[in-house]
Amino acid sequence: MCATKTTDIEATVAQANALAAAGADVVRIAVDSRRDAEALAEIRRRTQANLSVDLQENYRLICDVAPVVDKVRYNPGHLDHHEPQRSWQEKVRFLAEVAGENDCAIRVGVNCGSVDPAKREKYDPSDSISPMLESALDHCELLDSLGFTRYCVSLKDSDPAKVIEVNRRFAAQRPDVPLHLGVTEAGMPPEGVLKTRIAFEQLISRGIGDTIRVSLTLPNPRKHEEIAAGRQILEDIAAGRVRSVVDFGRGGLNLISCPSCSRVENEAFVELAEQVKELTRYAADRPITIAVMGCRVNGPGETDDADLGLWCGPNFVNLKRGGELLGRFAYDEVLGRLKEELDKILEDISRSRP
Ligand code: SF4
Repeated sequence: MCATKTTDIEATVAQANALAAAGADVVRIAVDSRRDAEALAEIRRRTQANLSVDLQENYRLICDVAPVVDKVRYNPGHLDHHEPQRSWQEKVRFLAEVAGENDCAIRVGVNCGSVDPAKREKYDPSDSISPMLESALDHCELLDSLGFTRYCVSLKDSDPAKVIEVNRRFAAQRPDVPLHLGVTEAGMPPEGVLKTRIAFEQLISRGIGDTIRVSLTLPNPRKHEEIAAGRQILEDIAAGRVRSVVDFGRGGLNLISCPSCSRVENEAFVELAEQVKELTRYAADRPITIAVMGCRVNGPGETDDADLGLWCGPNFVNLKRGGELLGRFAYDEVLGRLKEELDKILEDISRSRP
């Protein structure tokens, strides 16, 4: 997926071509506005890559993008953000109609950081998998009832163990539906590659999964490394070179960060994530999860489940402890506050240990 601003046509064409040259079979681009959609039409003219569009909130933009791309991904968890008076069923019917008219495929992309609230409320807060599964199954059922067949599904979480379980449970119920695999917000290499590898090894070795994406937090010029990592994992699995018995250190520091995209609120995001990694090295052996997210799309949800969370605003960073917002801090202030909060947690851990 391109992490450049979609309206920056030069940069996005260059990144799309670089990803395709590195071996990406499909390149995804975020579209949130008419301006993005207009830029996309020009990007389409200037790149050979197979293009897919990531729609989050404004599902109606499918009218502008379906004629120029091969696939559209929508997020069931964000359909209620636009025209809340309309049901999700009406919106999916509209998406399927326009996609069908333009011979465009659809991906139903469920993400742990933005699950349909109506599904989440039905289950115990500790069960994050059942609402994801039910959301995906309901959307499949509706698309089937509409006679729309060119769709696939993704069920992404930042925890590889949950990715394995939710995709296995989905494949057991709908073995006929193609699955796009990914560990979302996997973070920076090498940890992000290892997390992804563990999930892919467990699923692909069982014949689960049709397409993959390795989501890594990388500066734009290194975005193509996602493709190299994905191809290497597939090659290794095919050759039987697997590592899945490795315990990913439930006891250690777990750093979650998104791969960035056109929606990133501030270009300093990747650097901030790298600085957090450096800053928190001293707590590497402590069972703490820290999430660093680029914007409000998955930021609030993903940081809710972390011990400490940062999600970016245009000129400030939201700092959270679990679900509690501690405040908004300038980019050059937030690391100091993060360290203070981390030290408090470490103190609590040492106090709780006999
Ligand atoms: S959290 Fe925001 S910036 Fe990060 S990948 Fe998701 S949409 Fe893009």
